[in-house]
Amino acid sequence: MYDSPKLLGLRKELINNLIKKGINNKNILEAFLKVPRHLFIHKDFESFAYKDEAFPIDENQTISQPFTVAFQTHLLNVKKGDKILEIGTGSGFQSAVLVFLGADVYTIERIYSLYKKSKKILHDIKLMPKKNIWDDGNKGIEEFSPFDKIIITAACETPPNNLLKQLKVNGKMVIPIGKLVQKMTLITRVSVNKFEKRTFGDYRFVPMLKNKY
Ligand code: SAH
Repeated sequence: MYDSPKLLGLRKELINNLIKKGINNKNILEAFLKVPRHLFIHKDFESFAYKDEAFPIDENQTISQPFTVAFQTHLLNVKKGDKILEIGTGSGFQSAVLVFLGADVYTIERIYSLYKKSKKILHDIKLMPKKNIWDDGNKGIEEFSPFDKIIITAACETPPNNLLKQLKVNGKMVIPIGKLVQKMTLITRVSVNKFEKRTFGDYRFVPMLKNKY
């Protein structure tokens, strides 16, 4: 795994930046120290990996802004052994953070080339999800449900029903809801038929689409 003192220095600066923005969970900050984010973007731009900004990856997609990854992870309240479904593997960085925190991660990506590339990186740095799946995440994965937590990293106009159904009672879903701008939303399944919602700030994600290619 390629790393350098300069990149480690940039990682530490990023962590200070996240602390200033209110991220105070020690485990999440440690994940940002240990997971080499520069390996998830194009080599020529490795120093951009530690700016607190989203960055383009292949196929017109983006690696989420570090703060967004940290905040979604914070809202999920990840515990060791949690069974977590992620929709939108993208670069794989968010999956790596969840695996680092001890979760059993099932991650779905609709674009084959991103599915392949992220799977290889996660394997190389030994932060492997239980399953990397190439499919339309709107369906979730019935055969591995129910999940303790579900994280969606693409914008949805409404929470997909299939995903709500695959959440355990007392389980949590973190999902950006909206069209051009999304409200980060935390949904808790308080009983079989009852879901509670809380919203937090505005974000911009690429849209959650259907079909795979
Ligand atoms: N978690 C990612 C963020 C990637 S951006 C990261 O840390 O880099 C969102 C990703 O969601 C894109 O890769 C996009 O292809 C994917 N996506 C969009 N709609 C999807 C769907 N229906 N099913 C699975 N993945 C989807």
